Amino acid sequence: MIVVDWSAAGAPKTGKDSIWIAQAMGGEVKTENPAIRHAAEVRLADLIGTALAARERLLVGFDFGFGYPAGFAERVTGRADAPVLWDWLEAALRDGPDNANTHRELAARLNGMWAGGGPFWGNPARRDYPGLPRIRPELPAGLAAFRTTDVAARRAGGSPKSPWQLAGAGAVGAQMLTGLPVLSRLRRRFGAALSVWPFEAPDTPVVMAEVYPSMLRAEIRVALDDTAIRDEVQVRLLAMALSSLSAQGRLAPLFVSDAPPEILAEEGWILGVGQETALRAALPAQAEPPRLRDDCFAMPQGVNWLPVDEALGRLRAVLRPVAEAETVAVAQAAGRVLAEDCAARRANPPAPNAAVDGYGLAHAATGAGPQRLPLVEGRAAAGQPFSGTVPAGAAIRILTGAILPKGVDTVVLEEDTAPDGAAIVFDGPLKKGANTRAAGEDVMQGALALSAGHRLRPPDLALLTALGLAEVPAYRRLRVGVLSTGDELLSRPGISAAPHRIYDANRPMLLSLAAGWDYAPVDLGHVRDDPAAIAAALDHGAAGADVIVTSGGASAGDEDHVSRLLRESGTLSSWRIAMKPGRPLALALWNDTPVFGLPGNPVAALVCALIFARPALSMLAGGGWLEPQGFAVPAAFAKSKKPGRREYLRARLDVEGRAEVFASEGSGRISGLSWATGLVELPDEGAEVTPGDMVRFLPYSAFGVA
Ligand code: AMP
Ligand code: MG
Repeated sequence: MIVVDWSAAGAPKTGKDSIWIAQAMGGEVKTENPAIRHAAEVRLADLIGTALAARERLLVGFDFGFGYPAGFAERVTGRADAPVLWDWLEAALRDGPDNANTHRELAARLNGMWAGGGPFWGNPARRDYPGLPRIRPELPAGLAAFRTTDVAARRAGGSPKSPWQLAGAGAVGAQMLTGLPVLSRLRRRFGAALSVWPFEAPDTPVVMAEVYPSMLRAEIRVALDDTAIRDEVQVRLLAMALSSLSAQGRLAPLFVSDAPPEILAEEGWILGVGQETALRAALPAQAEPPRLRDDCFAMPQGVNWLPVDEALGRLRAVLRPVAEAETVAVAQAAGRVLAEDCAARRANPPAPNAAVDGYGLAHAATGAGPQRLPLVEGRAAAGQPFSGTVPAGAAIRILTGAILPKGVDTVVLEEDTAPDGAAIVFDGPLKKGANTRAAGEDVMQGALALSAGHRLRPPDLALLTALGLAEVPAYRRLRVGVLSTGDELLSRPGISAAPHRIYDANRPMLLSLAAGWDYAPVDLGHVRDDPAAIAAALDHGAAGADVIVTSGGASAGDEDHVSRLLRESGTLSSWRIAMKPGRPLALALWNDTPVFGLPGNPVAALVCALIFARPALSMLAGGGWLEPQGFAVPAAFAKSKKPGRREYLRARLDVEGRAEVFASEGSGRISGLSWATGLVELPDEGAEVTPGDMVRFLPYSAFGVA
């Protein structure tokens, strides 16, 4: 497998924007960087010869177009046949051993074949080449700017440039003019042993094909660091992807295309266009699959009581995203976490337009004092652009959102004008650009719209959609398994119950918290305090969820079976957190799946879920760490608190905006959870709270609880 990044450099060149040859063998990729096209050609011939001698099959990908838009080849050679055109170009181009070459003269000569000037353009050189315009000309009738395959590549999110464009970022025109002659010579040299797809059937030992490394743009972006050279990274990744497809016997499907044969005969096709996902998925994983380390929750010896902030800091440090990324329609993406930065595909607004209803005019033709401007026929409205030009000194009726017609740079507000027959009058002066919105004044095309890790909310969907994004890369919803344990629990709500049994209150609470946080809740049910049953439930959870949240049995007592089991499996870390309510938080991995063992007590279970599980789950989901936003309010209560433990009190605001707390601090009082609208947080240190003192109130909404 060989992938070549070609270059049309006019002098020997290495590094950025030069020739890179990547050769994939097994799982390894070697790259070379010949400074001169001649040397690259010799090297490629060598590699092909070696493969043939070894009776190995070889695919050689070049990153330039093998064909031009339909109609070109016939005009130049008399035949709509790409290989004939390559030979023609081969005879026409001079390309010296120092890379000095005549591709611009050649483009000018080709342009001369059209009476009104041909399609090629772009000249970054100081010298002029008669017949080669520097800026894009009108295309000759019947020639498209892009081939069918380029259009397909654009649909898939790529941005291939037109083959007519010889200069500028990403342009390929010059590479084609200097590369196709090489293709022609290699083809002649290896005869029947070599075919060029799709013009010839790919059933020869050596197959050449056109490739477009930017298909792997997301992967390239990730692989690029400050020192890497983009050209090298992209040939390397593409060679790797192709060779791993080949190793899996899945290369053949790439050799199909979407265009009819008569177009293919002339235009060619980019290998893999239309099958980008297969290509991308073939890249061997660079990273370890997302996984937490076995000892990630381990606590250093001797740590006794862990302050809340330290516990939070540890969780934040060890947790990382475990869900994979996928592509999601923006309309379905609320609550999802972006897996990559999203850039604007289109500016907002895309074109300058009117910000009010009024009259559009050219500012330069107005002055101070009373102005009388005749109105042109017609009007410009949102979605109904005015196609003519508004002459200087005239005005046009324009409505909010209408694109500014040619000749208009300023809008006078309707209320500031009076009709005057077929004219309007108003008082000058106006400010240039008044009442208009500039293209991109909100967001420029290509600007960062939202960053990776952002959790999409309804307004974000508006932004992404306005910026032309229909799909975004987002992490799969985190699957949160919820398991209740305890012999006393009834497995179903509402059934008749003996006095020693209680209803499982935690499970619906924790499941709905997970759903409210935009995760996928997975109900793992309830199990008795029986190690085998708990182990089976954890197995089931680890298979179907990304994280398991248990409640009950998480302490160190005789009946604390969850912690015993996790301890025996070797990964338990019981964090004794200096906090009230809450007993130890049991943290462990079960078959690589993180387990959060919350206290059984519903009050403690909720507080621990809000304080610890919420930010931890967000880390696992790719959304980064979350801090609840609290605010200071006067206390409506008095309390004396000893140092050593942070306390969370069930609280709500009274009519005066002061925090009152639930009458009982008993942690079995579920009614207090419902009574409250949030928590008051008292600091780790001791405190004497008297009414009127400021305390920190954390509304439920600060924890994403609606
Ligand atoms: P444990 O953490 O298992 O020692 O349980 C502490 C207290 O919480 C006990 O009174 C349990 O009965 C109670 N409890 C445990 N799990 C639940 C649950 N899912 N719903 C309601 N109460 C529970
Ligand atoms: Mg229990």
